[in-house]
Amino acid sequence: MEIKNVLVLGAGTMGNGIAHVFAQNDYNVILVDPYESALTKALSTIEKNLSRQIKKGSITEEQAKETLSKIKTSMNLEDGKDADFAIEAAIENKEIKFKLFSELDAKLRPDVILATNTSTISITEIAAHTKRPDKVIGMHFMNPVPMMKLVEVIKGLATSEETYITIVDLSKKLGKAPVLANDYPGFIANRILMPLINEAIFAVMENVGTVDAIDEVAKLGLAHPMGPLALADLIGLDVTLAIMQVLHNDIGDPRFRPAPLLKKMVAAGYLGRKSGKGFYDYSGENPVPLKF
Ligand code: NAD
Repeated sequence: MEIKNVLVLGAGTMGNGIAHVFAQNDYNVILVDPYESALTKALSTIEKNLSRQIKKGSITEEQAKETLSKIKTSMNLEDGKDADFAIEAAIENKEIKFKLFSELDAKLRPDVILATNTSTISITEIAAHTKRPDKVIGMHFMNPVPMMKLVEVIKGLATSEETYITIVDLSKKLGKAPVLANDYPGFIANRILMPLINEAIFAVMENVGTVDAIDEVAKLGLAHPMGPLALADLIGLDVTLAIMQVLHNDIGDPRFRPAPLLKKMVAAGYLGRKSGKGFYDYSGENPVPLKF
């Protein structure tokens, strides 16, 4: 079946980027989120990112207009029922994802592939909440989606080879580089990245160094393009905490325990860039590191 109409479920940091990339590659997108404010913010983020691409000379104004015209939004999942492919990018919460997948399964045609952008949650468990586990797969885009090449493709225990091949092919059509990962908590990217970020947060908490010292060391000494604390702010501290909790619970090893400072910041509403404050304050022109 040819994929033309794509349902993106969840319009946050990742959902808007995924919608952007599909629309830019000539797919019709319906972006669904229960919160109107999330949809409004997603569209303005996509517009901002398209303007940036125009300024860089990578697209024309005409192409940006065309991309925007391919994205429709809705607060009702029912409006996505005719999609040929669905990708879920709602919050990193098992119960919500299980419920969303049983709803997607009930509403979409039985031949439609249902993908999830989850960072850590088991694809096999998500698939078990549908009647089409062979058509459920992880399609894990990286943040920011329009810029990052990698898509981790994660097979659940029941995912069919046909589904896998379709998603590898789809990733390539989006100009991405698909890499296969097996279904274990955190897959490849977050199994490696999150413990590094979490350890950097322990280092702030234990006053091994200031926020900017830790990020400078990672950039200048380890050749990371950005420091782990700035990256945590970009990912979202709530998402970072949710990922650490899944790694900790599902692997069961204490080395994955989330740093208490991370829990405290999420409880205070310091979620990183999206809330205006995390390890840095984003209210001014340039991010200012917080003192702990
Ligand atoms: P986010 O908090 O920015 O956005 C989540 C969105 O889900 C919000 O707009 C929220 O309104 C919406 N939502 C809440 N309940 C919903 C429901 N019942 N149905 C549909 N939408 C609902 O989160 P995010 O960072 O975009 O993460 C989304 C997914 O992508 C998560 O599974 C996360 O683990 C994964 N992910 C995140 C990153 C990252 O860097 N942030 C990277 C890769 C993958």
